[in-house]
Amino acid sequence: MNFWEKPLNTLTQPEWEKLCDGCGRCCMQKFEDEDTGEILHTHIACRLFDANRCACSDYSHRLLRVPECLNMRHFEAEHFQWLPKTCAYRLRFEGKALLAWHPLLSGSQEQMHELGISMRNKSISEDDVDEEQWVDYIIDVTDVDEK
Ligand code: SF4
Ligand code: SF4
Repeated sequence: MNFWEKPLNTLTQPEWEKLCDGCGRCCMQKFEDEDTGEILHTHIACRLFDANRCACSDYSHRLLRVPECLNMRHFEAEHFQWLPKTCAYRLRFEGKALLAWHPLLSGSQEQMHELGISMRNKSISEDDVDEEQWVDYIIDVTDVDEK
């Protein structure tokens, strides 16, 4: 059995890290619709997100530098709804298979970027937008979630 098919709580730390597709979608600010409970995604990125690399610019210190950045290994069940529906950790938490474009299946991140799944070069830093305006940066992720 491939490690990404095993239960999340049985993965070693290296396996856990490899499970991440590198899409960067978890690093975008989100809102919860008070009426529907729906999670609304924006393209406002965490201040540590490097849009060109589509990666955290200080991954090893992220939890110290950004208190809102949580360690997914300690997620409670209700936290997973805040992750994109395409997120490998959310998929595996829900008992689903990885999507065909996942780098572990496709061999690289290129297909993910070409399909427009990732946030590479698509975000704007939270430092560059007033927080009260973040709501103006909500994006429709329906297409991405269905790929
Ligand atoms: S959304 Fe999930 S798979 Fe994508 S970068 Fe974030 S943690 Fe990794
Ligand atoms: S600290 Fe890094 S990993 Fe955490 S949300 Fe920000 S960019 Fe993403």
